[in-house]
Amino acid sequence: MHIDFSKIEARLKEPPASGAEVSAILDKALCAKGIALDEASALLSALPEHTAQILQTAATVKEKIFGRRIVLFAPLYLSNYCSNACLYCGFRSGNRELERTRLSIGETVTEARALVAMGFKRVLLVTGEDPLFGLEQIISAVRAIYKNTGMRIVHVNTAPMGVDEFKELKKAGVGVYQSFQETYHKDTYAKMHPHGRKKDFDWRLGVMDRALTAGFGDVGIGPLFGLAQWRFDCLSAIAHSMSLYAQFGAHAHTISVPRLRTADNAIAPPMLVTDNDIKKIVAVLRLAVPTAGVVISTREPAQLRQELINCGASQMSAGSRTNPGGYTARSRATLEQFPTTDHRTLPEVMASIVKEGGLPSLCTSCYRVGRVGSEFTEKTSAGEMEKLCHSNAILTLKEYITDYSKNGVREHLEQALKKAIDEIKDPAIKKATLEKLREIENGKRDIFF
Ligand code: SAM
Ligand code: SF4
Repeated sequence: MHIDFSKIEARLKEPPASGAEVSAILDKALCAKGIALDEASALLSALPEHTAQILQTAATVKEKIFGRRIVLFAPLYLSNYCSNACLYCGFRSGNRELERTRLSIGETVTEARALVAMGFKRVLLVTGEDPLFGLEQIISAVRAIYKNTGMRIVHVNTAPMGVDEFKELKKAGVGVYQSFQETYHKDTYAKMHPHGRKKDFDWRLGVMDRALTAGFGDVGIGPLFGLAQWRFDCLSAIAHSMSLYAQFGAHAHTISVPRLRTADNAIAPPMLVTDNDIKKIVAVLRLAVPTAGVVISTREPAQLRQELINCGASQMSAGSRTNPGGYTARSRATLEQFPTTDHRTLPEVMASIVKEGGLPSLCTSCYRVGRVGSEFTEKTSAGEMEKLCHSNAILTLKEYITDYSKNGVREHLEQALKKAIDEIKDPAIKKATLEKLREIENGKRDIFF
């Protein structure tokens, strides 16, 4: 992994681009093939009068690549023990106030079942860097969830590993391996991570190289915005994805946009990142790496999440709890990593996506048919995914309406479903989608393109 950070710093010192330059970059971006790093830098530093044009272009590119669909998932915290000392995190080892717990396999299954009962099909397992909850325990959790719950795909966000460990994790059927660099700014990183294994900046920066070498097709990256200058971290994340593409032929499958929230007994964000900054970050990520899922968590408030649907975002968590056991009996704030902001339930988030013109999707298809890594990047870049994403969103929405949704929300979702079916342009795909919808009506589940 090589990123030229001094070049990124130098770029960000350049004067803001003119209106003509911004328009020329956006014209290029509209082709949905990405833009160069210096062009992304120019957009990030553009004057506020150009922001609306940048956000609008990002919304257009998002639709070209993934259609209107917004994919939904939930995190599941397995352990809040941690041997690291990240100054900003409620789980850090020095936080004596935090109640610690590790979920047993039985508790993990209960939590995952609770999410399935809400309608979720994809889950992201999260742990602290816990020596007593390492690879073996994570793999057991993954296997138990697949075996006992009906969850269709399990992703993982856990401490960086070596190639051999990643091979084992992949064998267990994990979809995406996700890990956030936190900040790409080396000095800030050193200050924020004073001890523990996470102190090693290069070990963390190289994590995706190791995961991809081990056979993971899909990896998820992201800075924790609020630690260092947001433009620097956004541009570095783009450079990170470009470097993965150069080496492995696959861009980061997802780029998350977590913003630091003040956790109990932890530091407040050292750098200000406004809501408008988050919108610009999301938009520029979309324009620079059009094939990536741009992920917005419940760290963000409901209103902003609504607006981000039309700035280039393509994935969202919903109803999240950041404490192990949070979805069932052991739901206690004293176990939380950080407080979430958007407390809406899955159906509420689905209804709000519809209201913004999006299409809620519970699809897990790509991981299951092996459309991952370089193949996913190529197909998406060629514009082949939009149709599939649209129909897969329709099929999972139909399942959700049939199996879960209650009156009120149901009407909104039914209208959205009808509109989405009417929109299918390709006659062959329309015919196939209608056939699959009939199969769902006849009781079949989990069918996709
Ligand atoms: N322990 C592993 C690690 O640090 O990579 C993985 C899980 S950690 C629980 C998941 C992510 O939560 C971190 O990578 C960090 O970006 C984010 N995080 C930590 N503290 C946070 C806070 N106070 N507000 C928002 N996000 C936070
Ligand atoms: Fe531990 Fe991760 Fe929190 Fe750091 S961010 S203290 S490694 S859980």
